[in-house]
Amino acid sequence: MSEPLSQICPPDSPEALFRIFMAECQDGIFATDTQGVILMANRSAEHWLFHNASPVSGRHFGELFDPMQTATLNTMLDAMHHGIRPPLRELLVDGAQGTILTVQLSAFPVHDDSGVLVGAGFVARDITRSKQVEAELDFERNRFRLAVEAAPLALLMVDENGRIELANKALETMFGFSADEMIGQSMEMLLPDHLRAHHAGLRHDFFSKPAFRQLGHGRELLGQTRSGALIQLEIALAPIRTHSGNAVIAAIADISERKTQLNALHEREVRYRSVIESVPDGFLIIHRDGRITVSNPAYSRMSGYSRRELLQLNVATLNATDNQQLITNRIQNVLLQGYERFETAHRRKDGSVWPVEVTVCLIPSLDELFVFVRDLTELKLLEEERRQAEQQIRIMAWHDYLTRLPNRWLLIDRLRQALSAARRNHTYGALLFIDIDHFKWLNDSLGHEMGDLLLIQVSRRLLENIRAEDTAARFGGDEFVVMLTGLSDNMATALEQGRQTGNKLLRALNIPYQLRTHLYRCTPSIGITLFQDDEDTDAIFRRADRAMYLVKSSGRNAVHMHEHAA
Ligand code: GH3
Ligand code: MG
Repeated sequence: MSEPLSQICPPDSPEALFRIFMAECQDGIFATDTQGVILMANRSAEHWLFHNASPVSGRHFGELFDPMQTATLNTMLDAMHHGIRPPLRELLVDGAQGTILTVQLSAFPVHDDSGVLVGAGFVARDITRSKQVEAELDFERNRFRLAVEAAPLALLMVDENGRIELANKALETMFGFSADEMIGQSMEMLLPDHLRAHHAGLRHDFFSKPAFRQLGHGRELLGQTRSGALIQLEIALAPIRTHSGNAVIAAIADISERKTQLNALHEREVRYRSVIESVPDGFLIIHRDGRITVSNPAYSRMSGYSRRELLQLNVATLNATDNQQLITNRIQNVLLQGYERFETAHRRKDGSVWPVEVTVCLIPSLDELFVFVRDLTELKLLEEERRQAEQQIRIMAWHDYLTRLPNRWLLIDRLRQALSAARRNHTYGALLFIDIDHFKWLNDSLGHEMGDLLLIQVSRRLLENIRAEDTAARFGGDEFVVMLTGLSDNMATALEQGRQTGNKLLRALNIPYQLRTHLYRCTPSIGITLFQDDEDTDAIFRRADRAMYLVKSSGRNAVHMHEHAA
């Protein structure tokens, strides 16, 4: 091909153009006779196919190619001898600097006018680069496929039309469909019926509106398995471009269990919260240093502090009576023992103090203390009421309801004690039996109520005229008994002491009584006896009673002393 073109043919003839094309063509082109002897080769063929071997024309290609390559060319030539156009073949040939080129070889027969095979044309194309690219692509595709296959996460590749292009093992396990059943199908097959149309719309937006791409991350979706079971899915989407257009890879996690656990946790939390919020008792959670971290409405109601104010406070500031040391000790104790219950008092925001029962429990997992605060105000009031009622009952049982003086039973009890003391000390005591004269008349003339008023005034006068250690009692009706204790150990002296008190009382009871608008005069009859070594109280009462009746029978309004044997 070295002779100038212009010498062979005119430069603008088709032949000249053909020659230029042959000369410039990157593919190696050569022609042989029917036996494989090279008749011509273009520049590219000479250069990279025959490695500038010179001359080329006239040589059999077996001299220029190695045996493998030669065999391939012979096969192609053979085919043409049999009237068959040989298929494309690939050859490996040495390239520059020790590289190996992949060459795609095509061959075509050359016939004369009568159709006899006179030679063959060969076109050799260097396809090394495209082969490499294809291999790399294959490798990438394979690697991607393997990675998808092996991923523990369920992965799905979906094209723009929602067709499943790829589904891995984890996805098969999750949904119960085989990859073959899924590939080529609409991805909405993995969703329950009622969501399919809506999802298809979202998918369309995802591919067509860039803003929707963000929606794909961390999205939750309800899926449906082959058996119809519903599963909660969390999906992350990654858009990719494939040879066939836009696609998306979806990484799918089954969060049904997590969801159930979260729901259960949430439910427990709601239940626990509503209990804490609605219980009538105060509830606080405190840190081990006493800082309040949680409070309920009941404690706010009771203390007057808002929740926000309480969260700024230390439990010690709520306590009205205990010092810091005691509070710290209690917390330490709860940290050791896990539990403590005690009564104390809390101070409200307005400064008032209220009694409380506090129960503290340690929650080790939280390193916090639960504090239950019960308002004891009502309980304390009830306790006080009960105490007063009990006292009232005691008073009623042992006292006269009208005059509040000790009644017959309390007097008998005290007389017994006085008797044993008298015996022990050899001192005397005295019993004065006092009956109001003509009391019935007062009742009958001024009414029962006036009679009551008189009885009350008599009781007062009795108390005013005896010592604190003596006892004045109402025995019933208009009968009163006064007991004197610790009199002299000398009988005569004791008699005198008794008589003196009797006279004193006689005088006191003789003073006119102001009964409302009435000034009323009345008198008592008083019988007295000493006691010291009597066996029983009855005898003492009998003696005093007898002495009193002696007064009644001898004209009333006097004191009579039982005559004791000296
Ligand atoms: P005497 O001088 O003999 O003692 O005559 P008397 O009228 O005082 O008669 P007596 O002591 O036997 O009567 C006492 C009366 O006291 C009888 C009863 O009607 C009345 N009485 C009893 N208990 C009460 C009471 O709680 N209130 C009043 N107002 N009267 C009472
Ligand atoms: Mg009387």
